[in-house]
Amino acid sequence: MIFKSRFLDIEIPKIGIYQYATSNTSGIDDEKPIFIDATTDKKLSFGEFKRNSRRFAAGLVNKVGFKRGDVLAIFSPNHLDYPTVIYGAIAAGGKVSPINPLYTVDECAFQLKDSGASVIIVIPSCLSNVIKAASAANIPKSKIFLFDEEEINGIRPFSSLISEQEINPIEYSPEEAKLTTAFLCYSSGTTGKNKGVETTHYNIVSNLAQLSAFEKGFTHETSLIGFLGASCVILPKFELEIFCRAIQDYKVNLAPVVPPVVLLLVKSPIARKYDLSSLRLAISAAAPLSKELSNEFVKIHKIPIKQAYGLTETSPITHMAETDNIINGSIGILLPNMECKIVSENGQELGCNEFGELYVRGPNVMKGYLNNKEATDICIDSDGWFRTGDEVFADSRENFFIVDRVKELIKYKGFQVAPAELESVLLTHPSIADAAVIGVHSNESATEYPAAYVVLQKDIIQSDEIKEEIKLFVSQRVSNHKWLRGGIYFTDQIPKSPSGKILRRLLRDRVKNKFISK
Ligand code: AMP
Repeated sequence: MIFKSRFLDIEIPKIGIYQYATSNTSGIDDEKPIFIDATTDKKLSFGEFKRNSRRFAAGLVNKVGFKRGDVLAIFSPNHLDYPTVIYGAIAAGGKVSPINPLYTVDECAFQLKDSGASVIIVIPSCLSNVIKAASAANIPKSKIFLFDEEEINGIRPFSSLISEQEINPIEYSPEEAKLTTAFLCYSSGTTGKNKGVETTHYNIVSNLAQLSAFEKGFTHETSLIGFLGASCVILPKFELEIFCRAIQDYKVNLAPVVPPVVLLLVKSPIARKYDLSSLRLAISAAAPLSKELSNEFVKIHKIPIKQAYGLTETSPITHMAETDNIINGSIGILLPNMECKIVSENGQELGCNEFGELYVRGPNVMKGYLNNKEATDICIDSDGWFRTGDEVFADSRENFFIVDRVKELIKYKGFQVAPAELESVLLTHPSIADAAVIGVHSNESATEYPAAYVVLQKDIIQSDEIKEEIKLFVSQRVSNHKWLRGGIYFTDQIPKSPSGKILRRLLRDRVKNKFISK
């Protein structure tokens, strides 16, 4: 059966993101601070945001020859100027590729090359890595700009790109809005290594429109806190004390969180030192939130918590719980304009109370993976159904529940870890003959840890020393969130299907018994 959203379809404007974000804003005063840096209390007003982004766009076009369709990579945690840069690049007709600031040189170089980035914005602490990565991607130093006031080693501050004049943001016809890529975020999808997700203007505008039709209680009066993406109160990274103080000081109403943050808010005494009573709602997404944890959160903080669900490939949200009807453990119901189906292993469409893989269809499903028709065809069929790789069921009222993940992906504290990438690193270790990486869930930490099964070369003896050596080997080659925190296990053989696919479920079951959380 096909599940349809309970909401009537809404009209989705077929316009560019810039036009959407700056239209229908009659209630927002130009003086209103719309972004606040919680660590410095610096503010950016709506008027400044519009002006700066248009001036930055002018600088991109006139000073570095940035053209329609060009890609700007941004290598930074959340930052007060992040929205200016993103919207500036979008206003200039470009695409934005955000790079995780924790990435190693090789990881960064891969994304720079793969996305075809021509301009980079970077925070000073990542500069030396970016210079190396940019050189590997043949991007000249003159196209790298700093998120800082000062020039460092000949790299200019991004403010040097802010022109006196503004440009008129590029506008798109309805057809162009549908086809033009605005973001290239990277995701491993259901299998393999990282791929560029082509998110169009229409995808983003759709999801913003879908979310605002769904969540009528929140308007431009609402104050959000974000370390996940650009939001009103911005934190460069998550730190519990700063997070709680910011909620208290800025009277934040809505907090998007991930399960490990919920855990800290429940367990840490720090969270109880602050007045969080302005919060009307917490929304947890990106990974499973256990019933017990949400119960404890509500008991301690007297604030409702609900889940949302989605993927990078769905721009991002497809399901969300209704605030006045939160069913513990459920990701909620379909957003407007969305359909989904639950499919069994043998391709049968299932009904309520049956477990199967979730497929979704709607205006927020990505255009495809960049330069990778094969991977796109695997996950989006000719009728537009997108395979999520998540196992779900729906109760008789069509509330959805995530049961398991059928794809390879591991998520450590909300960050993606692609097993295929770690396996190829492990296979370059001289003592390793074969390897498989899986995720092991730790309730204590409300997250998954990457763990490896390795087959050693014939002449190598299994020992704790070699485990330590392998751990170190991996941590020297990949960014911190991909480290093998789940442990290393020796085995004589990696279980594989006749076609050579690693049977990860078998390994996950094996490790469940052994795993001691770290
Ligand atoms: P990403 O593309 O990094 O956002 O990862 C998407 C994946 O995160 C989904 O396919 C799910 O496996 C997982 N995910 C997102 N939201 C939830 C949720 N509320 N509960 C369980 N898993 C989730």
